[in-house]
Order: sequence, then structure tokens, then C-alpha cells
Amino acid sequence: MNRFPTTRLLEIQARVEALTESKIAPMAQRVDQECIWPAHSMQALADEGLLGLNVAENLGGLGQGLLGLSVVTETIGRVCPSSALCFGMHSVATAVIAAKATQAQEDQYLRPIARGEHITTLALAEQGSGAHFWLPETSLAADDGHYRVNGAKQFVTNGGHADSYVISTLASEETSELGDFSCLVVDRDTAGMTWLEAWQGFGMRGNSSRGVRFDDACVPRGNLLGQEGDQVWYVFEVVAPYFLMAMAGTYLGIAQSAVDLASNHLRSRGYSHSGETLAGVEALQTCFAEMWVTAEKCRGLVREAATRGDLGQPDALPFLLACKADAAVKLANDAMTLCGGQAYRENSRVAQILRDARAGHVMSPTTNILKSWTGRALLGLPLL
Ligand SMILES: Cc1cc2nc3c(=O)[nH]c(=O)nc-3n(C[C@H](O)[C@H](O)[C@H](O)COP(=O)(O)OP(=O)(O)OC[C@H]3O[C@@H](n4cnc5c(N)ncnc54)[C@H](O)[C@@H]3O)c2cc1C
Repeated sequence: MNRFPTTRLLEIQARVEALTESKIAPMAQRVDQECIWPAHSMQALADEGLLGLNVAENLGGLGQGLLGLSVVTETIGRVCPSSALCFGMHSVATAVIAAKATQAQEDQYLRPIARGEHITTLALAEQGSGAHFWLPETSLAADDGHYRVNGAKQFVTNGGHADSYVISTLASEETSELGDFSCLVVDRDTAGMTWLEAWQGFGMRGNSSRGVRFDDACVPRGNLLGQEGDQVWYVFEVVAPYFLMAMAGTYLGIAQSAVDLASNHLRSRGYSHSGETLAGVEALQTCFAEMWVTAEKCRGLVREAATRGDLGQPDALPFLLACKADAAVKLANDAMTLCGGQAYRENSRVAQILRDARAGHVMSPTTNILKSWTGRALLGLPLL
């Protein structure tokens, strides 16, 4: 099994590294401090043809799967976690559209995405069901060639900036029950759609993770993705693997930046009284080695999970569920200790990545729920 990027993916990774350094890094601090949605990052990724990372090659995309998504989000996340998450949620929504796209949906969404002309994003979370993202209460009523959508979503990354929103709703049949999950793509500026308060996060401050309300929003029937009530298939075959991999990549990028920041500080921090740097202190060498090992183990698990997922291996599930990079919070904390008082200053880079990393635990599937699902998958129990 080829566990590490193919030549094609390495070439994509090199392109992302170059644009990350030239276009994304210079703005990363402002994105965090001023809660700026990273239009510059999305434009740079669009210009490089990367918005179509997960679109099939015959539609003009790059034809990548989970491994490609994890590598690209890691590369961006190392420099600007908010940009990585914005790109990641675009890619997850793209994969959901692509999973069962009709010809019309290919023309309206996937080809423009591949041309870098369209940003989409995923809007599942609701106040009522919170972390239980597979239980939407937003309703769908069939109405003469259209659906009427009523309900509200919370924490929509790219909220107010994307061109379309992949939302989850109950199926429209009168008999539908909680858990009858349907996916629908809703265009921006749809009448009846109202954006709620601007995003002011503790971390991931550039994400524009806003709430949105749907009041009798009128959506063409042709915007239904797959069949009504396709719930289990969409949640476990597409939403969860892509969502998990976008986040695993982003948080792995944060974990790696914690290692980078600690390395730089240990090498450069010298004392006037001894002329020595922190790199010469044995206790800190040990601590740094442990950080590096943690990041590499995490990378190994993410790559393994993505590869197994892309190959459709039946035993991929526990790998995918286990790899959302818990390492980021631990390593950002370790970097905060190793980098001393410099790092503890408000808005230091280490402080920023620690705040960004914390989102990992509360983003669905949340860490608590994932741990229970991993155990259930390994013990042969149904996840829900
Ligand atoms: C920065 C950011 C970006 C986001 N972007 C998106 C997005 O683009 N699209 C989207 O759909 N959503 C997004 N979300 C929402 C996210 O996926 C979660 O749905 C949301 O954070 C859950 O928040 P809550 O307050 O409703 O949590 P609650 O449901 O109140 O949960 C609180 C805590 O209880 C724990 N908990 C709840 N039930 C259980 C259980 N059965 N077992 C164990 N623990 C449990 C949870 O793990 C969590 O730690 C985003 C969130 C953030 C913070």
C-alpha cells in the first residue's frame, strides 16, 4: 500500500507550500487579530486550481481524495489555521456534492469549483442538537418544483462568504423522523436566508463561523443531493471521513508549527550570563524530542487513515475516527512552556496556535464522541 503522497500529490504539496509562504503567511497574524475571513488565501488557492482538489479530473479538478485533503490542509494549517479550516470545509462540502452529483449539479457547482470560480461550505450544526450533527431539525417541505427550508444552522465556517452552502435537513416526507437526514445545496442570496451575528472566536478567528436562519427559503428541487433520507450513507461514507480528514490535516499543521516554534526558540534563546542557548539544556532536549515523536506519530496515523479510507478498506473506520490530531493541543501547550514568557505575551504566535488548536476538541465529531465511536467501531458495535 502506498502510504505516502504519490508524485502527483507531492507536486501539489509543493505548489501549496509555495503559495502558503508567499500569499498566506504574510497575512496570517492579521487574520487572527482582526478576525478577517481569509479571502486572500481562498483566492490564491483558486488561482492555483486548488479549489477543485476533490473534484474528479474529468470535471476539471485534481481528482484527489482523503490523503490529498489531509496533505493540503496540513500545509496551510502550519501557517494559517483559519485558512486551512476555510479551505477544508469548502473541500468537505465539495466532496458531499460530488458523491452523488447529477449532471446539472456537476455543471452548476463542480465545474465552477474546479475553475476556481465557486466556494462552497458545509452547514450541519444546529443549536438544538449541538455536537450530534447527524440529527438536524431544519425542515424541508416539498412545494411545486421547490423545497421550502425552515430552521437555523450555527457555526457555519465561511459563513456569508461562500457561494453555496451544503445543509442537512430532515427528509420532507410527513413520516420522516429525527435522524432522517437529507442534504441540499443552497445558493448564496437565496430569499429567506438571514445571516446572524459576525464571528468573534476564541481561536480560528478568521473562520467566519456564523449562524444562519432559513425562513421559508425556496430552493429548487434539483438542489437535493442524492435521495431524501440518505442519512446513514452520507454521514458515514462522505461527511465524516472528509470532515475528519480536513480537521486532522489542519490540526496536524498546528502540531507541526508548535514543533517548529519550539525548535526556533530553543536554538535562538541565549543567556548573557552563560553564553549558552536553551538547546543545550538536557531536560529541554528530552521534552523537544517527545514533541517531535508525538507529531510524527500523529502524521503516521493521519496518513494511514487517509490511505485506508481512499482505498475503501473495510477496517478504515477506527483509523479515521482516531486521527483528528489530539496532538495539536498537547504540542501547542508544550511549545508555550518551552518558549517561556515570550510566548505567553498576548497574541504571540504560540498563543494563537494554542487558541486555534482548542477548536479541535469541540468541532464535530467532537473528541469525546470520536473516542466513544472509535471504541464502538473496534468492539464491533454500531456507532449510533
Ligand atoms: C471554529 C468552529 C468552526 C466550526 N465550523 C463548522 C462548520 O463549518 N460546519 C458545521 O456544521 N459546524 C461547524 N462547527 C460546529 C461544530 O462542528 C459543533 O457542532 C459545535 O462546536 C458544537 O457546539 P455545541 O456548543 O453545540 O456543543 P454541545 O453539543 O453543547 O457539546 C458540549 C460538549 O459536550 C460533549 N458531548 C455532547 N454529547 C456528548 C456525548 N454523547 N458523549 C460525549 N460527549 C458529549 C461535546 O463533545 C462537547 O465537548 C464549528 C465550530 C467551531 C468552534
